[in-house]
Amino acid sequence: MEIEKITAGQELFLDGQETLVGAWKKSLEQHPDKTLFSFNGEKMNRATFLDQTSQTASALVNYGLTQGDRVIISGETSLDLVIAHVACLRLGLILVPVNSSYSESELSFLIKDAAPSAALVDNQEWHELISSIDPDVFISSTSLKIESGPIPDLDFSKPEDPALIAYTSGTTGKPKGAVHTQRTLLAGALSVANAWEWTESDCLLLCLPLFHIHGMGIGLHGTLLVGGSAVLQEGFDQDSIFSAITENGCSMFFGVPTMYNRLLEDERVTQLSSLRLCVSGSAPLSADLHQQLKERGGVDVLERYGTTETMLTISNPFSGERRAGSVGLPLPGVEIKIEQDSGEVLVRGESVFREYWSKHKESDSSFDNGWFKTGDMAIIGDDGYISINGRIKELIITGGLNVYPQEVDEVLQLHPEIVEAAVSGVESQEWGEEVVAWVVMEEGVKSLDLDEIRKFASKYLASYKLPKRLVFVKELPRNALGKVLRHELKEEGGANGK
Ligand code: AMP
Repeated sequence: MEIEKITAGQELFLDGQETLVGAWKKSLEQHPDKTLFSFNGEKMNRATFLDQTSQTASALVNYGLTQGDRVIISGETSLDLVIAHVACLRLGLILVPVNSSYSESELSFLIKDAAPSAALVDNQEWHELISSIDPDVFISSTSLKIESGPIPDLDFSKPEDPALIAYTSGTTGKPKGAVHTQRTLLAGALSVANAWEWTESDCLLLCLPLFHIHGMGIGLHGTLLVGGSAVLQEGFDQDSIFSAITENGCSMFFGVPTMYNRLLEDERVTQLSSLRLCVSGSAPLSADLHQQLKERGGVDVLERYGTTETMLTISNPFSGERRAGSVGLPLPGVEIKIEQDSGEVLVRGESVFREYWSKHKESDSSFDNGWFKTGDMAIIGDDGYISINGRIKELIITGGLNVYPQEVDEVLQLHPEIVEAAVSGVESQEWGEEVVAWVVMEEGVKSLDLDEIRKFASKYLASYKLPKRLVFVKELPRNALGKVLRHELKEEGGANGK
């Protein structure tokens, strides 16, 4: 029988009083003229950035927002989005970043759950929807066009004050808000900065979305913490990636495996070797892709592992072997335990979230004696390297984005010609996994059109959650209790390998 294994990263030195915003201020007040962000050819230095966040905070105070109020924030990457994000944190507001590709019903759920006092969203169509749910919510785009007044008191939050609610579906269908504090956010960014020797001379090429912990909690927050700089890009575009590498002198790139797959197909892939660090995460990087990037691109990608709730917890070393097929060793400030029988990865440490927003029962059950249960499975080698080798939770990761099958099943079942449906992730070279739906049709219905089903489901779901294929079956495989056996789906109807 496997014995339970516990392994820990180096100690993370956090002064008890330190907060994310306090640490940012300290680093950004030095060298005011140094460029902090570049976006679409526009450059912004540290002094201007700090000043604009103060002005925006003043506008938010004018509107009547006070510490602890929740603020929905959503938009494509822009300087305004980043300024609003940081202004809220400096003012002690609790940020709720939202994926701008969400459908109206996904957004409605979050509004009801987080009960925000303000919504800074760039999608004008959402403004009406939000005010119809709660007319008292202050609504604006991320560029606040309201009068600002005197600069308010800023950066006063205490380490344990909630700072951000990151929505994730955890192990079930409905999204849950993982509450991070000033301290957990600081720890998450600091442990990575230490491990990857991230310094103020680094320039990060950041095209990851800023509503997710990967791009926001690590990419954006880390840049501000170390006082480095970042070239911000609105989404992944190969030409922009390669021109940023050659023209902006970037030194680091953070991506997901789907991005690396595309970069590998491009003859300019060798340009990646001019970066000092390329990181992959959010989904498994196959050993084969890792190897090909090394051979054809001359780049030894560093793979790391984490979750929204814990931030990053395991990483291949910056100096030392970056092992293909392994996520490496625990990061500073993190302890990892591999459960004896199930092989589940449990995490304890400085960057672990405090609770799920207003969900006490789920919060309690997601911990085992202080250890967060990730729902992922792993093995540890004799030399301490950890390899993720499965998932206990029902989760599909497609192009680095998470899809919770139950949520998609429920929507497909609303379709009048579908009796029941269940989705699962099928291996895909391009997406890692792709969403495939197994469907039982109503009697008399001979076939269903994929485009029509996608159009129907898009009223409720963001586009990356929509099925890429349909497999028609007579019935879904179920256990004695009626639960759909998703692992058996793939054997039905020959969806594998198509
Ligand atoms: P999220 O909460 O959106 O960051 O998603 C977290 C999930 O992504 C984890 O629970 C894992 O299932 C998966 N994940 C993240 N990084 C990796 C990785 N390097 N290898 C395999 N799975 C990963």
